[in-house]
This record gives sequence, C-alpha cells and structure tokens, in this order.
Amino acid sequence: MMDLEGATRAQIAAHQLQRLQEGLRRISTHNRFYERKFASAGLNIDDIQSIANLAWLPFTIKRELVADQEEYPPFGSNLTYAPSAYIRLHQTSGTTGHPLKILDTQENWDWWAKCWETVYRAAGVTKEDILFLAFGFGPFIGFWSAYEGAKRIGTLTVPGGGMTSLQRLQALQDVGATVLVCTPSYALHLAEIAREQHIPLHKSRIRLTIHAGEPGASIPATRKRIEEAWGAETFDHAGMTEIGAYGFTCSAHTGIHINEEEFIAEIVQPHSGQAVTEGEKGELVLTNLGRWGSPALRYRTGDLVEHGGYACACGRGSLLLKGGILGRVDDMLIVRGVNLYPSALADVLHRFPEIAEYQVLVTRDGGMDEITLRVECPAELVPRLQENLRLAFSLRIPIEAVEPQTLPRFELKARRVIDQRPRA
Ligand SMILES: [Zn+2]
Repeated sequence: MMDLEGATRAQIAAHQLQRLQEGLRRISTHNRFYERKFASAGLNIDDIQSIANLAWLPFTIKRELVADQEEYPPFGSNLTYAPSAYIRLHQTSGTTGHPLKILDTQENWDWWAKCWETVYRAAGVTKEDILFLAFGFGPFIGFWSAYEGAKRIGTLTVPGGGMTSLQRLQALQDVGATVLVCTPSYALHLAEIAREQHIPLHKSRIRLTIHAGEPGASIPATRKRIEEAWGAETFDHAGMTEIGAYGFTCSAHTGIHINEEEFIAEIVQPHSGQAVTEGEKGELVLTNLGRWGSPALRYRTGDLVEHGGYACACGRGSLLLKGGILGRVDDMLIVRGVNLYPSALADVLHRFPEIAEYQVLVTRDGGMDEITLRVECPAELVPRLQENLRLAFSLRIPIEAVEPQTLPRFELKARRVIDQRPRA
C-alpha cells in the first residue's frame, strides 16, 4: 500500500492509474454491465492510458443500475465474479427511488473496512477508544462498514441497534464510550432526550463524534451545535452504498477530503458534464478503485459539492470538498430568483439553541418555488430568525412557530423538506 499523505498530484494520479488499470483488467469480459458500457462507447480497456482518458467512458447513473437490476434480477449484471464469491448484501434506502441491492465479496468488504479505517484515523480514533454505534443495524451499509472498519483500529466496538434512544444514552454511559457514530440529526436528537431526562451529556466520556448516513456535520452551525451538546469534537464522513466510504474530515475541519488512494473524484457541471475548476460548485462523480466485485466507474453521486483545491492545514494534498456535501443537485430551489439549497438553511437555523427541529415546506406559486419554515421554537424568536434568514439569503421567508415535540425526529436520513409542489 502506498502512503499518499504528502504525495504530489502526479504521484497520486500515477497511483490511481495503476489501480484503475489493474481493476479494469479484472472486470473486462467478466462484468457484463461495464462490458456493454465500454462497447457502447467504442472503447477497449487498453485505451485507458491516463486518468484523463477515464473521461472517455460515459457516466454511470443510478437509474441505469436500477434498470439493470430489473432486467437481470435479482442482483443485476454489474457483477464481476460468480454469485458464490459474494458474502454481503446491502441496499440503498430508496429515498430517491427504487432501492438498489449491492453485493460485496470478502475482498471488497475488507476494502470498505480499510476506507473506514482512514475515516477513524483522520478523526484521531485509537485502540484505547470505545466506539458506540447509535444505529438500528438494517440493510443500510453505512454503519455495518463502520463497525467492520473499527476492527482495523482495534477499538472496542459496541453496536447500539434494537434500543430506544434513552437505552442508547444509558448504554453508552454505562460502557464509558468515547466515540459516538451516528447521523448528525440523531446526535442532536440524543442530546435533546438527554436534556429532557436530565442526563448530563458533557459528563459522558464521549470525546469524538463521527457522522455518517446523511450530510450535515460539515455545516459550521450544525457541527458547533453537536460539539456543544456533547462536549466533543465532531467529524464528518461521506459515503454511498453504490460507491464506498470515500471522504473524511481532518482536524482542520475545512471540508471533506476525498480518499484519493481508493477513489478518483471528478466535479462536473450537472448539465454539461464538463469539469469545474477550483472555487466552483458542481456534481461529484466518483470511481472506486477497490471494489471490483461490483465496481462504480464515473458514478454520478447527485451530490452538490464545491471544488476546494488541494491545500489543507493538516498537510494532506488530496482534493478537498469545501463545506462537505452541500446538498443534492436536484434539491435546488429557485425562490423569487434566489438559488437556495435546503441544506444552507441549517447553517442559519442551527445557530439558535432555542430551535429544536424544523421543516421546510416547498410549494409552487405560478411556476415559482415558495418556501415556508415550520420551526419548533418560542414564537418571540420568529422576528430575529427571519432577520437572520433575510441577511443570509436576501429573502423574506415565512416562518410558523410550532409547539415543542410536534415535528418528526430522525435516526437515518432526515427528511426535513416537504415538497408540496404539483408533480410535473
Ligand atoms: Zn485536512
């Protein structure tokens, strides 16, 4: 294994090309899905002689994989090996359509664990830590891979499945857990329960929180809120069932680093597919370099990110996604001419400790998007909140203050945006 910390861009590209070519040789003639894609582009795997050549290959999109699984049930044709080679099955949540089933071989599963090891090491997790995963262990891959990855650090790992939130709070105090892994929404929900139950969280031994399952932990106000509630340092991680655990935050908290040892990242304009440059926003496209049993080549993640260059105070020279995952490309609203991502609202709302939870209602008025916020907060906060939103977005956003505990809470993939627009 090559250590890419401190490597030059040329060294990183050389490493990626070597891994890519090795992998392509493995999948060629064995993986019907990618065999068809190469053929339709008139490409041969030997044509890929540089990382730039990868752009000759068409993007892979989720819809394609879903259609492939319908055509070749139950697992689709993006499989490089015989069915008996696979040991793990997970599936996507299906929040944005049909759930996708993805298989992993033992080798691929070890690779997932290795990618998580990178996340843990960047956050400073050691074998002295006790890690608690506050998550119901279902078919979603995120926390299983986190569980598996902790083994590589040698950390004592506690699964928090099948428990109520209160039981989880008690369990993590009881074992003296020092690292909490959960979604950012759920970390805040646990903190809320602790407050209600008069459990002093800052007296728990939790020193690090690491987040998965949904973005949010890179939004400054959200991170600060989690850190204050838990008296801990908060780290983000980014991954996808279809791709792998591809990104992590370092102690500089500048954004998400791409793990370029295991992934090739491109950031493209969503409509043209052309690469954006540093400082610009676009859709993240990823190629994984260690999951050849069910690979993803130029996979369009649908996530909006900002190209943050390659310089970080931590010394890593890998591609940085400034501010983490900014939202879904499809989620952009145009409210009275202002481009607005619902995730950007969190950075304002989470600055107010009085706000427990919120919801964004999206409606359409004469072809224009309109939003209303439903906020669990005291009514007297509304004018100050409205002023802060106006300063941030140059919009007057209607706010409805609602009673405490009336809005839903989430363990995984918070759904705070309620789209009431008529279907086109
Ligand atoms: Zn860094």
